[in-house]
Amino acid sequence: MKTPPGVDPEVFESALSQWRETIGEQWVFTGDADLDLYRDAYTPFRNEETEIVVAAALAPETAEQVQQIMRVANRHKIPIYPISTGRNLAYGGSAPVLSGSVVLDLKRLNRILEVNERNAYVLLEPGVSYFDLYRHLRDNGYKLWIDCPDPGWGSLIGNSLEHGAGYTVAPHRDHFDSHCGMEIVLPDGSLIYTGGYPPSVSRTWNVHKWGVGPYLEGLFTQSNFGIVTRMGIWLMPEPEAYRSFTFELRDEQYFPAVIDALRRLALDGVIDCAVHMLNDVCMLTILSQYPREGSSGETCLSEGMLAALRRRYMIPPWSFAAALYGTSAQIRVNRRLIRRALGPYGRMMFFSDQSIAGLQWGLRLLKNVKSLPPLRSIADSILRGAVGASVEVLETARPMHAYFKGNPGEYFGRYAYFKSDTARPDRDLDPARDGCGVMWLAPVAPCTGKDVTQVLDIGRPLFQKFGFDFWAALLLDSPRSMIILFSIFYRKTDAGEAARSRALYEALAAATLRAGYPQYRTSIAYMDRLWQDVPDYQNLLEKIKTALDPAHVIAPGRYGIGSSGSTTREPWTATIPSE
Ligand code: ADP
Repeated sequence: MKTPPGVDPEVFESALSQWRETIGEQWVFTGDADLDLYRDAYTPFRNEETEIVVAAALAPETAEQVQQIMRVANRHKIPIYPISTGRNLAYGGSAPVLSGSVVLDLKRLNRILEVNERNAYVLLEPGVSYFDLYRHLRDNGYKLWIDCPDPGWGSLIGNSLEHGAGYTVAPHRDHFDSHCGMEIVLPDGSLIYTGGYPPSVSRTWNVHKWGVGPYLEGLFTQSNFGIVTRMGIWLMPEPEAYRSFTFELRDEQYFPAVIDALRRLALDGVIDCAVHMLNDVCMLTILSQYPREGSSGETCLSEGMLAALRRRYMIPPWSFAAALYGTSAQIRVNRRLIRRALGPYGRMMFFSDQSIAGLQWGLRLLKNVKSLPPLRSIADSILRGAVGASVEVLETARPMHAYFKGNPGEYFGRYAYFKSDTARPDRDLDPARDGCGVMWLAPVAPCTGKDVTQVLDIGRPLFQKFGFDFWAALLLDSPRSMIILFSIFYRKTDAGEAARSRALYEALAAATLRAGYPQYRTSIAYMDRLWQDVPDYQNLLEKIKTALDPAHVIAPGRYGIGSSGSTTREPWTATIPSE
């Protein structure tokens, strides 16, 4: 049996039997096959020797059981690592930061406790996924839209606590901003409600964000000060009208001007959604896997290969999708303003529900025609000549249209398969199962053409230096800030490629931070590095941790807090291969 660091095996056995009594024998997991699920399947920072070990996993069903679990953990100083749905794709999966922790898997707390259509919010538990909530609202006919990330298999609470982002309008697209009211189990097992007054005496817990007194909610995000067992989340009432649109940049030279134009449009409230802007490699990873044949052992595309693939799929240097919401009149006005601001730089296509359905129908027809060899070239020239687009790129419009309406899917999770040896399935994607090597690193920049260009100029040569395709997606985080999401895909079966991906990650994290662009969330591989240049801030976090959690039982090391416990993590020694 594995035991948590510093915990006597007999003491651990006694804790396990107390937990069995509390939640039932079948919900306390200690077998290898069960525990193997709790790992970071995507990371190059682990291998068989350095894998994080989980001592046990517990799956309670109620907040009261979570309280009791924490009381036992506190008594015996056993580190507990809470997860909601445990996906955390490319940031750490379901692995704890401290090896030897006990995972607290909250998937059975999966109740949607209230849907309030009049005031447009829901109250739910951590095990509820975006798919679950979407189906519940749809099946019960609620006129409320959710805001989902992609893929939609994760937990609303887990994503909110990580400051995840979606697609629709403010505040919904910022998943922490759209929350209102948390129920939290503290490390000692007590239960509190944010906002000051519990819902038993306050009718405003899920509608008035600030409560009264200090606003404490932020303390429980990207931290390890408590376990959230309920959360209120604001939803968007179904708007009267909706249009999505795509933009394709004509020429790279206009890139900074487009970013500046987007900022202006967002500051003026013309565009209120989370614009998702993709570079050519990002679009390519959605459309196809890495073409191993013809790459003569190279681990990234040569300039010539990339150019050929760009031509084949007609991929622009940058493209984005966005959406407009409101009344038909509002959308008409905003569409005109957007065309005026962005028209000089590229091509736009607007889609309604009807035109998306029409596009789908047309694309299906063309694909059928293309399957008949004599007609293939006619079909191709219709598209390329008349529409100026490939079937593959046009096909991305439909899932985009759906995401901006809050219909969760898994379409864009496809890119995780770029370097996988497994062929990408059409549905039921499971990058953890299918050996997908992927890491995300996401610095934030002020939303200006100059800043965003600078971050990209830092990233591009590093990707080249370490032999990886330069993948970047820009997420308009607010009118004032842009998240620059870098994705590093590596072949998991290639130890050399894994080592280079670690080196790239390290170099990228250091260079972007040095230039003044910290990350908006981080991977468990980077947490021990977060505060190395800001010891005063770390001291403050440690004081709060010690006050709330003197035995450091909740997620030691998460976001670099309370990491003084022993760990078997591989030190940050990614070596930079010689050139
Ligand atoms: P998702 O499956 O939505 O990506 P996870 O369940 O993996 O989200 O959660 C992301 C991270 O947030 C986890 O690694 C965990 O540390 C933290 N977390 C998740 N749920 C909770 C919770 N209910 N209370 C406290 N921390 C949580």
